[in-house]
Amino acid sequence: MECLRVKLYTPTGIFKNPLSIKGIEIYPLPPYSTIIGLIYRAMGRKWNGEYFQISIQGDYQAIYRDYVWFKKHNFKDKELGRLPLQVPILYNLWLLIHIKASEELLNEIESGLKKPKELLFLSGGEYPVKVEEVKRVKCLEKFFSEEDSIKLNYHAYVPKEFKEKISPSGTGEGILFSLSYFYKNSQKSKNYSWIDAYYFQKGTEIYGSLILDEDNNPVFLAEPTTEELKKSEGEEYVRFYAGNWLMASACVGTLKVLENAVEDIEKYVEERTLKIPKSLWEKLPELYLDYFLKDKESVKRSLEDSYKQKGNDINPYNTLIYSRLRDFHSNSPFTNQSHEYIKRLKGVYSENLEEVLGKVKESFLEAYRKLLATIKDLSSICFFCHERQAKNYVDATTFTPLFASLETVRNFIWDPIPICKECEFLLYFASAGFYRSAGKYLFVYVPDDLLETYRLNLILSTEKEIEQEKLGRVWSVVRYVLDLEKQKSSWVLQNIYFVEIEMVGDATANIYSFHISPNLAKAIRELIDNYPKNLQDIFSEFLFYIYTGRSLYEFLFLLLSGFIRKDSYKNLQGGTIESKIVQAGRNMKYISQNLLFFINFQEVLNMNTQKDYTNWAFWAGRELKKLYKESENTQKKLEPLTYRLLEAIRRKDKEYFIHNLIRAYLEVEKEIPYLFKEALDDKNFSMIAYAFLIGLNSEEKSKEGQANDEGENSESA
Ligand SMILES: [Zn+2]
Repeated sequence: MECLRVKLYTPTGIFKNPLSIKGIEIYPLPPYSTIIGLIYRAMGRKWNGEYFQISIQGDYQAIYRDYVWFKKHNFKDKELGRLPLQVPILYNLWLLIHIKASEELLNEIESGLKKPKELLFLSGGEYPVKVEEVKRVKCLEKFFSEEDSIKLNYHAYVPKEFKEKISPSGTGEGILFSLSYFYKNSQKSKNYSWIDAYYFQKGTEIYGSLILDEDNNPVFLAEPTTEELKKSEGEEYVRFYAGNWLMASACVGTLKVLENAVEDIEKYVEERTLKIPKSLWEKLPELYLDYFLKDKESVKRSLEDSYKQKGNDINPYNTLIYSRLRDFHSNSPFTNQSHEYIKRLKGVYSENLEEVLGKVKESFLEAYRKLLATIKDLSSICFFCHERQAKNYVDATTFTPLFASLETVRNFIWDPIPICKECEFLLYFASAGFYRSAGKYLFVYVPDDLLETYRLNLILSTEKEIEQEKLGRVWSVVRYVLDLEKQKSSWVLQNIYFVEIEMVGDATANIYSFHISPNLAKAIRELIDNYPKNLQDIFSEFLFYIYTGRSLYEFLFLLLSGFIRKDSYKNLQGGTIESKIVQAGRNMKYISQNLLFFINFQEVLNMNTQKDYTNWAFWAGRELKKLYKESENTQKKLEPLTYRLLEAIRRKDKEYFIHNLIRAYLEVEKEIPYLFKEALDDKNFSMIAYAFLIGLNSEEKSKEGQANDEGENSESA
């Protein structure tokens, strides 16, 4: 068999898929549709029904989530804003593609890729893709036993049906993805078909019946799926696919509702799929309502409060339902105030709780029927489940925080996203899936495992209220996630992330997400137990700095400023993060070596291997202090010296810092230690300067004093 082998290189790759825009859908390699799109653009024409098969492998240097600024056009106010959207970007991406097709089509593809009809971009990348090789290669099927298994040199998509023929040996089963394969341009929307494929990381050893090209690269040709709907008729289950955080949050919400109905939820989950028996699905609207009303005492209280406030303007539906759904489903059948079934509950209040709840229930079920009845005549398959017929397009009512802003970023909506009624209703459960606190919503997502995602979010919502603060809750999840490391592939670990939604208006929201980078994981594991015990009060602020990627040197600067300039911050007020850190600095009675924790932590994040300088600079500072203390004359110069050094650090002015150091050592008739000259380069400046300053201001304490401070570990979360 002959294939066309293509090697592509791009310095950066962003995957253009409506749901990848906000980082909600992430693939470790471009999905099939992206590569097929590129091939057809090279040929300068559209797909015309030809048959071919394709294999995708690749390697990349790093994956980053980066903010890209998009122009936002506000149609109402005619004003251009800028909207930061977080997108996953692969850096230095190499791709190894094999294509099998008729001789005629192969010729066309070959000449298309050699002399493209247009500049080729891998979806939104800044630089054109470089076609490094287009070559005909002979491919042969060969059998490998487990003993002489071969090692993958690239990450690879391996279509599900290959699993009968080949096996990975030893580690891991691969991660199952449902990948967009192909689309036909029906009038309005892109109608994707989907392929289930396992993602194997490079280095995985595989054996069995393999196809190899003439350079011994394995080839995993994917069969195109038919355009027909997967069999769903006569199916006993309604299935949902938690392939992105949005759908995952809806699935988690559903699981919470089922758990509340005393269902054994584990039997409804398989990897990333939620499967609900049809009979149970029918009851889901009522079960959701039960979930909302589960705590009778608090239901009663909120109705009473509402009545006290509003008198006859009370609307129990709004008190109990609207308040729970409005942020995520603004203007929907469940929240739009113009619907008769919502309006008619105005003024309904009675001592008889059950009677009131009965009416709320009627309205809720009516809203559900309204949702089902709102139908568009579409020929597309649902974008979310990949199997049912779409009956609507996604809009602001489907999930307001995400799609309302999509509406305003016209240039980034390529096509409307088709959705089926089942998925549309399921998305209403996202309100139960997110953990809500003080106007913010939080969700944690594990890409390959729905049950794990559910468990992590339970930690988030049921964690004892020792630490009220949200970051403290996140912290307990972070610790749990780090414990997962042994079981999960590094790709999954790097893509466990937290989604925070902050409502800033009726239909506007900020969506933030952060994940635990490998460096952060390393720093936490190696160092967190050394977190200074005397700074427990600002542990949350510390977490904020590391989650949001701010430099701990800024943190340290505030802390030291508070300590060194106690007087100038005497009247400092306010509860900002920054002022809290300065206050904590003011409250420190003395400084000890335990502050080096922040430097060491930051340097692990920076991947700096020259950390030895930290201790050295600390002791140099301590030594100089001792020399200064020997005479009264120099002792009083210690404070001005500290000020000047802090100022040099603030300005990141290396020259000024060194200048002051030289003067300081002259003062005590010493020469500046050689290592300063050698090590004080731009990269190490903050590390050495802060460590020195901490040493210069530190005090030797009695052993007991130290033990109290530095503690054995930090019982923080
Ligand atoms: Zn669907």
